[in-house]
Amino acid sequence: MRAIIAGGTGFIGQSLITELQENGWDIVVLSRSPGKVASIFGSGVIGMRWDNGDWPDLLGPETVIVNLAGENIAAGRWTRARKERILNSRIKAGERIVEVVRRSGVAPAALIQASAVGYYGPRGTELIDETADSGDGFLAEVTRRWEASTLALEEMGVRRVIIRTGVVLGNGGALERMLPPFRFFLGGPLGSGLQGVSWIHMADEVGAIRFLMENEETSGAYNLTAPTPVRFRKFARILGQTLNRPHWLKVPAFVLRLLFGDMADEALLSGQLVLPARLLRAGYGFRFPNLEEALADLLV
Ligand code: NDP
Repeated sequence: MRAIIAGGTGFIGQSLITELQENGWDIVVLSRSPGKVASIFGSGVIGMRWDNGDWPDLLGPETVIVNLAGENIAAGRWTRARKERILNSRIKAGERIVEVVRRSGVAPAALIQASAVGYYGPRGTELIDETADSGDGFLAEVTRRWEASTLALEEMGVRRVIIRTGVVLGNGGALERMLPPFRFFLGGPLGSGLQGVSWIHMADEVGAIRFLMENEETSGAYNLTAPTPVRFRKFARILGQTLNRPHWLKVPAFVLRLLFGDMADEALLSGQLVLPARLLRAGYGFRFPNLEEALADLLV
């Protein structure tokens, strides 16, 4: 079994590669910089540039492609130029994969296409699953077009799985950015604290991706979120309790808007309560279904 992982050098990709290697998969990483692949993984992982003419030769009926590549969404203010990079990097990666598969004439076993719960747009208090429509806003538009960028593979008969991922809790990523105020006794909810946080422990993010790669019955969109999404207020309380720190100091919405611009309203001050209905129906067993245990595992 071979996995070709586009964007495998990132936060999720690195953990996914460990999970897959422990379970007998050979790994090839598509990267803008194969040197970065070598410095992260050593010789156990082959790194290839996107434009390397050899990677189509690696396609075969047992190959699964995982497409995680894209400009980081939370790395800075959403200027117009950044928004374009966030959107275009994703569309380009998807279209490139389709083009290479089409030209090679060899269909892979499956494509796992990354997406995000931002697909559903800002939502209030309703619990939603994969049957919900896409919502409003920049992230919803990006994810719709990102998902569509590899749709042509389905028309070629390839099993395609879309992973609408929530906030991944691991060593890095969003949790690392949230920790400093809590550690300095300044932690608390962002804005009203009523916005939904659909989180998932990294062990389940990569466990679910492997489950979907190996389970040939699965296809279409799956929410990769724990079965117990919470409001931010509760997230902050459990985080504070886990760290043995206060959790009541609210960060006002206007401060977040000053610091982060547009990104504050869509990514920090609003959210959604998303359930992994299809993953549960397919028989995936969560290692960390509850936030208390997930945070204790990562932080204590
Ligand atoms: P990272 O930002 O850590 O990594 C993504 C990888 O994409 C990078 O390692 C990089 O690989 C590649 N990349 C970065 N910028 C560009 C670009 N401009 N053009 C092409 N490739 C680029 O992402 P994560 O691992 O955190 O997430 C993987 C995917 O899942 C992302 O697309 C993200 O949007 C999505 N997601 C993540 C969530 C999270 O909580 N982490 C939540 C929901 C969705 P290289 O430098 O080797 O080319």
